[in-house]
Amino acid sequence: MSIKILIVDDEVLLQTLMQQRFRHKIRTGEYEFRFALSGRQALDSIRENTDIDVVLLDINMPDISGLALLAQLPDLLPLSQVVMVSAYGDLNNIRLAMNRGAFDFVMKPINFQDLETTIDKTARYVSQLRESVHTKAVAELKARFFDNITHEFRTPLSLILAPVDALLQNTQHDNRTRHSLLTIRQNGRQLLHLINQLLDLTKLEAGSLPIIELRGDVILFVTQVVDSFRVIAEQKELALFFSTDTAGHEVLFDGDKWEKILKNLLSNALKFTSPGGWVSVTCQLQPDRVVLTISDSGIGIPAEHLPHIFDRFYQVVTSLTRSYEGSGIGLALANELTRQLGGTVSVESTPAVGTTFIVALPVRPLPETATLENPQLVSADTEPWLFTRESAEDDDADAAKPLILLVEDNSELLAFIAESLTGLYRVLTATNGRDALDIAQRELPDVVVTDVMMPELDGYQLTRHLKNNPTTDHICVVLLTARSAPASRREGLAEGADDYLTKPFDLDELRLRLRNLISRQHKLRAFFERQMGSLLLEEKADETPPVTAREAFLTKLNKIIEANLDDSNFRAETMADEVCMSIRTLTRKLTMLTGISPGRLVRTYRLRRAIDLLRQGHPIAETAYMVGFENPSYFTRAFKEIYQKTPSEYLAVNEHLS
Ligand code: ADP
Repeated sequence: MSIKILIVDDEVLLQTLMQQRFRHKIRTGEYEFRFALSGRQALDSIRENTDIDVVLLDINMPDISGLALLAQLPDLLPLSQVVMVSAYGDLNNIRLAMNRGAFDFVMKPINFQDLETTIDKTARYVSQLRESVHTKAVAELKARFFDNITHEFRTPLSLILAPVDALLQNTQHDNRTRHSLLTIRQNGRQLLHLINQLLDLTKLEAGSLPIIELRGDVILFVTQVVDSFRVIAEQKELALFFSTDTAGHEVLFDGDKWEKILKNLLSNALKFTSPGGWVSVTCQLQPDRVVLTISDSGIGIPAEHLPHIFDRFYQVVTSLTRSYEGSGIGLALANELTRQLGGTVSVESTPAVGTTFIVALPVRPLPETATLENPQLVSADTEPWLFTRESAEDDDADAAKPLILLVEDNSELLAFIAESLTGLYRVLTATNGRDALDIAQRELPDVVVTDVMMPELDGYQLTRHLKNNPTTDHICVVLLTARSAPASRREGLAEGADDYLTKPFDLDELRLRLRNLISRQHKLRAFFERQMGSLLLEEKADETPPVTAREAFLTKLNKIIEANLDDSNFRAETMADEVCMSIRTLTRKLTMLTGISPGRLVRTYRLRRAIDLLRQGHPIAETAYMVGFENPSYFTRAFKEIYQKTPSEYLAVNEHLS
């Protein structure tokens, strides 16, 4: 490949000189020269030939100086380099040129030997530069393609798994059909797992796998992950030992990533240990970290492979390992996730004796407890790791999204539905009805989407509990079920379910139904907000929409406030006590129903009643006391805040109207 050199110099003779001096290289095609006698000519030449590798640029030229032209070149020839040609004693200009990005310089009168070395060196650099730019572009393209294709695989796979799960719920299949379905499910899940791991790696690389720290009992968490391997250990006839500090210690940690790390290490330990062997996990809680030690009595890893096992797609391939399935992604992912969390992972291994991985993962102490008055912090005391976000950047935007509780005992399907809803909603998940009920009572989601067939408490029972409890009776319930018979649909609706979807269902349909339910809730909330000035429900007569549970609840609250109208010590907290709810629950429920907090409801009610009393002729100061304001001037201010008029202005206008 020839080196294309543009010489920009107003010295006409230089052209002949160069052609003479480098005639061999020109003839063999190594060098290809173009000449420009001025800055302007150089610009024309560059516009015509963008493939120039090296520009030899004179500093002193009549129209555009070499320095001015140099400043324009990065835009015009981003992948070329410039060598300045300068007279002796022009050190200042050379310094300037180098600062503006010139690659090198030569002095006039030109030493052609030196020039040749400089041109070759510059051309080499240009070619490396182009290569690395090209490699980077290809890598980016690959990553994007990879990311897209992985996503493309994941959705149909999940949609294969969902109906297979639904089919497997039918107990009437003969053994062969059942076996085939189980094979489809097992392999489908394996593929999905692999794809999820790949996707995690790409996300990690792109920096788009944020750390989401949640509040939870870290020891309990690790215990549960280890316990989830007990069945596999038993099937493989392996002893699984676990020793840990006692549970009961709540901290902030990214459970999702911890789970991935621990599961990868544990499944390797089980995979590479033969029946009759053992796997042990110890978990030590230190003030700022948890140290997990995962040991096995398995085949071990030869010393020469140890430095590479955290590399992507690396597998120790020996006659021993060949029989194990795998892809070489697990450890790379575990290692990169650990690094992202600020932890460390190390390994020791002796072939035929066993392997020990030691992972140290940082944990953070809980922040000061959130104040009860702030409804946006309602999820701050959720217990399990799955649910709350502590460090998401978009917390505010997130808090405004409706809260959905998904209940589904198939954790894969659960993850899939949850994932498909997360952009639009905040999603909580539970795998059985009992947990779901706890979470619903604590978090008061906008909608509960629940499977019907579940262990512990089925979907119908869950609906009944939710709809018969004054704390949760306003929450919309959508039932998901494989049973499409009208009788079972009626059964669900009889329990008070708001909507019904038959599995396998279309995700778009679920999204649509959720959108409708939530927009209905929003409309109601807006309606109540508009009614804020007249929250005395009995006065609303005909315009009241058919929302019995809500109305009953608001009427109840109004009655309580009415009974305490003149008690200036009566607060939202007292009202919460009277309806047997915590202030936090009452705040959440009332905000969802009406868009206002309990404190505001009390105040609005008092001021609404003040109007009645003023109209009945009670003097302003007396009215203030009658509606629980100790200080009449504070009453006047509060009144004006809501009605934009002082009580006397209000009365004057009213008298004028009547
Ligand atoms: P995979 O298990 O899918 O092959 P990993 O990245 O999890 O991929 O592991 C990479 C390789 O490291 C494995 O293929 C295996 O050769 C080796 N390895 C990992 N963990 C162990 C272990 N506990 N005992 C023996 N070899 C292991």
